[in-house]
This record gives sequence, structure tokens and C-alpha cells, in this order.
Amino acid sequence: SVDRPRPLVAGNWKMNGLKSSAKVLGEIQAGYTPGLKAKVDLAVCPPATLLGMFALMAVGSRIAVGGQDCHAKELGAYTGDLSAEMLADAGATYVLVGHSERRQYHGEKDKDVCDKALAAHRAGLTAIVCIGETREEREAGRTLAVVKKQLRGSVPADSTAQNLVIAYEPVWAIGTGLTPTTADVAEVHGVIREELRRLVGKAEYAKVRILYGGSVKPSNAAELMAVENVDGALVGGASLVASDFLAIAGGY
Ligand code: PGA
Repeated sequence: SVDRPRPLVAGNWKMNGLKSSAKVLGEIQAGYTPGLKAKVDLAVCPPATLLGMFALMAVGSRIAVGGQDCHAKELGAYTGDLSAEMLADAGATYVLVGHSERRQYHGEKDKDVCDKALAAHRAGLTAIVCIGETREEREAGRTLAVVKKQLRGSVPADSTAQNLVIAYEPVWAIGTGLTPTTADVAEVHGVIREELRRLVGKAEYAKVRILYGGSVKPSNAAELMAVENVDGALVGGASLVASDFLAIAGGY
């Protein structure tokens, strides 16, 4: 429809990438042609060690960079952590919060994710709030209930179409090569959209970008991104290869 938000394809590099990986970003920049720029926004979320360098490289290319996590507090005695302001200062404009690997390996709950998203907003960042059911939850028929609960718990009240992106990532689809059917993606994204109406309000909810993530590849990207209420992709493994990442973005 006319109101369809401009799509975003974001790469989540996870714990991958060294200084030598700058060449991958260079290839992505070279392949982000005017034709592609006209259709889709791109973001790369490298490990924090590369954030500053990537942000400097990306100046002028319209490729955004993002962090993969931030602390909920603004500063203090939190050894090893990074504040949202630090990410913004390094050149980030996005930050992933509540990725399932953070929820799983760092025990992050919806409340923690909400606090991190709020911190991101305070620092002027767009929070990419990640949600998604486990295999057990899907098999128990609880997918929609889980996703709604995560949304209500993880999306702060100050969210707008500008400072919030949702990433629906079924945990069982991440890094497995498995993807939900397009009918299942349509159902979940439709429910997310309806829930956003309540959470961010009538004026904004249709403009919030809802990304699909989990085993997005060049071979399935066009099909997934054609689904109603899918406004882009959060790409893990395939974002580490410039040609694959660009091919996915070209699916729009
Ligand atoms: P994947 O990861 O594309 O490698 O499945 C997606 C993610 O975890 O964001």
C-alpha cells in the first residue's frame, strides 16, 4: 500500500569480524547502487570493536551501522558493558536489543529489553527489538501468545516509527536453514502489526518496520519479503558475505 514503510535490510554479524572484514563493508558499499538505494535501507551491525571504523567508512554511503546490544544505564561501574550513548558516539544509529542469543545466553527478560530500548531512545538510536518463539513454543501452539507477550513487555511506551523497528525471529529458524512458511510469517507479522496499533498508536503503527529474521538467504529473500507486513530482513550468517547480503537486499 501507499503507507508501506521503506524497507530495511540489516546485517547482524554477531561475534564475527576483524579489521580485515572492512573489505566486506567496502564490497557492500560498492554494491549499494543508486537502484538499490532507491528501494531499500541497509544497516550493518558489526561487533562493537569495528563500530567506529565502520561508521567512518560508511560516511556518505547511506549505509547505517548499529550495535548488537547496549546497557540499560547511561554510565557507571559496569565492566565490559557499553552504553547506548557510546554506540551513538561511535557512529551507530541503530542497536539490536533482545536478540534471542542475548535472551538465551545472558538471561535477558522482556523488562531488560524494554529498558535497553529506552536507553537507546534516550541516546537517539533506533532500537531493533527482537522477538520470536522457540521450537517448543511453536509446537505447543503458543507462537502468537509468546510474540504478543514479548512485544508488550519489550517495547517502551515512548516508541515511534522513527525509533523502533521490530525483528520477528523464530528461534528455531536462526542459523538452522529452516524458515516458517510464508503463511506463518504473514500470520505472525499481522499480529505484530495489530499489537503495535495498541503500543505505539494509530498514527504511527503502520509505519513501524517489522523485519523477518532467521535463515534469510538470497534464495528465499524475495519470497519472504513479498509477504504482507514484512518490511525487510534481519540477516545473520548471509550478511557476512557481501554478495549474499546485497542479493537479499535486491529481493525488494
Ligand atoms: P541467521 O541469523 O540469518 O544466521 O539465521 C539471524 C539472526 O540471528 O539475526
